[in-house]
Amino acid sequence: MNIKIENILAVVNDENDYEIKETDIFIKDGIITGIGESENDFISEKIIDGKDKLAIPGLINCHTHTYMSLFRNIADDLAFDEWLFKNIMPREDKLNPEDAYWGAMLACTEMIKTGTTCFLDMHMFKNQTAETAVKSGMRAVISRGLSGEDRNDDGAVRRINEAFDEIERWKDNKRLSFMLAPHAIYTCGTDYIKFIIKKAKEYDISLHTHLSETRYEVSEAKKNYEMTPVEYLDSLGFFEVNTVAAHCVHLEENDFKILKEKHVNVALNPISNMKLGNGFAPVYKMLEKGINICLGTDSAASNNSLNLFSDMNCTALIHKGVNENAQAVNAFEVFKAATINGAKALSLNTGQIKVGKAADLAILNLNCPQFRPKNNIMAALSYSANGSEVETVIIDGEIVMENKKLCFIDEEEVYRNAERIAEKIK
Ligand SMILES: [Zn+2]
Repeated sequence: MNIKIENILAVVNDENDYEIKETDIFIKDGIITGIGESENDFISEKIIDGKDKLAIPGLINCHTHTYMSLFRNIADDLAFDEWLFKNIMPREDKLNPEDAYWGAMLACTEMIKTGTTCFLDMHMFKNQTAETAVKSGMRAVISRGLSGEDRNDDGAVRRINEAFDEIERWKDNKRLSFMLAPHAIYTCGTDYIKFIIKKAKEYDISLHTHLSETRYEVSEAKKNYEMTPVEYLDSLGFFEVNTVAAHCVHLEENDFKILKEKHVNVALNPISNMKLGNGFAPVYKMLEKGINICLGTDSAASNNSLNLFSDMNCTALIHKGVNENAQAVNAFEVFKAATINGAKALSLNTGQIKVGKAADLAILNLNCPQFRPKNNIMAALSYSANGSEVETVIIDGEIVMENKKLCFIDEEEVYRNAERIAEKIK
């Protein structure tokens, strides 16, 4: 459908600078084909009135586990081990693939309603996230979580086969792409990691992993390999493949050097790190070193929401507090992490309102106190917006939410199923 968004305030930016201007945006065949002016033969099939509205690139959630939305508010205020091994994993064992589908659908519902148009998922139920993304209209990068001792271990073989089955099944869907996801260095043996790296190179697929999330992970790596987790993966050749590394909370001097030199994309998960008592990623220093930082929510079991505006807000604030420096991590750096940097990490042609980019946009209503007065829209996005302003969402040139009404998701059905499954896994 050809869409014209008329007279809208739009955030137009590149890596270095941004402009907020009133303009028209033209969308055709899923692509932004004009800003301000259209091609001569453009015929609008749909016109959106942009008065008192703001267009931003759709937010990109670079690390989540969508099916885990079923575990929202189920295990809180617990130490990491007790949270994961005693509360989350036993409940995961009770889930079937259909349950995972509804968990992922609950996640997509929340993400679209808060302006996220694309996410990177790590899951354990083949095809369920893909089905959900396709049904809801979302763009997604999907990775089957991989764990196991070595390449011949039964579970390890089954999981990587599932990953490739899934890639094969959905390879023609243009809103879906895939990564391989060794879960973490403490759930994958060295041989298995080496095997996954080999496969990633062979099939030209990026890698997605959890890295240096806890102090315990770092101390164990030093004990076992006499290296930090970052040094250990680097020694295996992991970063020869494009990588999204979630967390990177506990880094040492040489780690920064490796992450920068090997172009590793770091997906920050500030709320998850705070909630699980894992600390604060050294974001200020990562920015100084020129490391590509993007943003993730992690799952609703450790956040407890998939609203990226909350993570933007936290990122903009906590590093000022931690560094006792009000200039650390500014509003635009946070906005870029949630948009353009995320697109770069996921190798996607999106994340900017720019001619030639995929038309993934969120339209916010500015008639709300948190945007008034309109002194500084960029500051509002990072410091005062909360996601409730998102009114219309366009993904790949298709309207997936219009005036707060989801076009492809039956919200009541999602909530009904979430409650039914919650009862089952209590
Ligand atoms: Zn995670």
